[in-house]
Amino acid sequence: MERTFLMIKPDGVQRGLIGEIVKRFELKGFQLHACKLVRVKKEQAEKHYEELKDKPFFGELVQFITAGPVFAMVWAGDEVVSLSRSMMGKTKVLESQPGTIRGDYALHTGTNIIHGSDSPASAEREIANFFAPDEIV
Ligand code: ATP
Ligand code: MG
Repeated sequence: MERTFLMIKPDGVQRGLIGEIVKRFELKGFQLHACKLVRVKKEQAEKHYEELKDKPFFGELVQFITAGPVFAMVWAGDEVVSLSRSMMGKTKVLESQPGTIRGDYALHTGTNIIHGSDSPASAEREIANFFAPDEIV
């Protein structure tokens, strides 16, 4: 079954959105295979966002994601990678539609509540960066 890595970013955790976000994916019908509240290490954050290392906002992004606890999750289900991305909404705040997580809760592109893998291959790489095999059911 397809899996994805979703992560509620420090702004989402701080605002008390864990329950609301988990509820949306549960009600959609996806299965939660792992979750934990963790503080991301700098090297781990750099690895997670390695494709963006040449972007001007990379330093800020790593700083932001390591600034407080995140809620890391593995979810499974048919087409979970693309369906969860549409439930999250677009990256840019002006493009994220009402009804999506970012559209409903995010006011700025840099603090956009949630991360989701952009392909099944990214998902497996990101899951391995956050979870040991025995932490996943
Ligand atoms: P994520 O990987 O966090 O799920 P995404 O796949 O929608 O988001 P990416 O292009 O992978 O978008 O960018 C990763 C993150 O970098 C974004 O979620 C956002 O927080 C930040 N980011 C992207 N573009 C910008 C930008 N132009 N200015 C500031 N931050 C940005
Ligand atoms: Mg991305």
